[in-house]
Amino acid sequence: MSATLTFLGAAGTVTGSQHLLDDGSHRLLMDCGLFQGLKELRARNWAPPRVDPASLAAVLLSHAHIDHSGYLPRLVRGGFRGPIFCTGGTADLLKIMLPDAAHLQEEEADFANRHRTSKHDPALPLFTTDDAARALGQVKTVAFDESFAPVAGVDVRFASSGHILGAGLIHCRIAGRLVVFSGDLGRYGVPIMRDPDPVPEADVLLVESTYGDRLHALDDHADKLAEAVNRASGSGGWLLVPAFAVGRAQEILYDLRELEEARRIPSMPVYLDSPMAIQATGIYAAHPEEHDADLKHVEAKGTRAFAPGRLTLCRGVEDSKRLNDTPGPGIIIAGSGMATGGRILHHLRRLLPNATTTVLFVGYQAAGTRGRLLRDGAQAIKMLGEVVPVHARIMVSDTYSAHADRGEILRWLRGFTRPPAMTYVVHGEPAAATALRDMVAKELGWSAAVAEDGQRVTL
Ligand SMILES: [Zn+2]
Repeated sequence: MSATLTFLGAAGTVTGSQHLLDDGSHRLLMDCGLFQGLKELRARNWAPPRVDPASLAAVLLSHAHIDHSGYLPRLVRGGFRGPIFCTGGTADLLKIMLPDAAHLQEEEADFANRHRTSKHDPALPLFTTDDAARALGQVKTVAFDESFAPVAGVDVRFASSGHILGAGLIHCRIAGRLVVFSGDLGRYGVPIMRDPDPVPEADVLLVESTYGDRLHALDDHADKLAEAVNRASGSGGWLLVPAFAVGRAQEILYDLRELEEARRIPSMPVYLDSPMAIQATGIYAAHPEEHDADLKHVEAKGTRAFAPGRLTLCRGVEDSKRLNDTPGPGIIIAGSGMATGGRILHHLRRLLPNATTTVLFVGYQAAGTRGRLLRDGAQAIKMLGEVVPVHARIMVSDTYSAHADRGEILRWLRGFTRPPAMTYVVHGEPAAATALRDMVAKELGWSAAVAEDGQRVTL
């Protein structure tokens, strides 16, 4: 029997990344992501699994983001007992991200039970912190560029995808065919992360398409950050930066230190008010093997790359509350990145009515989130049971992104020395995925198709 590939998620959408390889004797799952966002998508996390978890020999994990890893505890709960292979950076990030995801699930169930908002009685979490702990116990770490055999006759290797710490491109030789999965593809020439590794060949290629129809802005990515800091300094107020804890918070810290050293901004107190971002920053610093040349250069001088001159870490809730009585100017970096929850909400409630406050959004703001409403100019906003008037200056930087844009994806594809026999476009909204497929066909002359949800193809 020839081997097959089945798209179980992130086909026609950007979350729920799961792709099944089957060589007739073994089943391997590439990524094990959670569906996120709209209610119909999230409902899919609750559907019976489309492949029996107990029948899987192993999981190959591209990186730690929840839309690629967050279904692991549920898979384990469903009977999966095999190894989960990933890089060391990914394994370290999973140790903070999976328990956090489980905690959120438990909180959600608890809320539903207290407020009777679920038709299920009692409402149960999708998975528990115990499930997350069991999944972490099945993780097996492999180094980048090290070949290993997850099962007999299959050869796998992770190369750097440059997306977040630990993120890998998966090379998998199965039944005589070379399958390459881009995972999430990072960018070229950005601070902290290395460029995506070039890949010379594949028989079957899976390429992500989050920004398959768009180009990132070309401005210097730290310009807006400098402008926001200088406004806060001039007004004597606070600068709030809602930021994702893993990846984005580290980029902001790095850029603040660089801007200070270049004297483009004054040295101001910076509060990293997120236990998860504090842990993630420690993990980033602890993996110098993945740092790009700029970061290595900074560290060679003995500088702590992620520490602006006046950095304070707010671990406990009391540290965070103390900021209420601290006069500005200063900078607070806190989650969540789209202001959907987390400590940033308390700071926004307190500081949005104040005209001296500046808020800088540095990430994607999904439809329906408070971040999107603020970005779109809301005059007042509901949070924590109050309607809060917005007098703060709201600023947006579109230059931070962990994903390759259309041009960068094409640049990476041009590194192939022979066309893959078939290229499947995954991990994109329909418009982005279709645009990328068209570009691959037109610019490169390759055979390409948008992967369809549930589609099974022969390798
Ligand atoms: Zn990702």
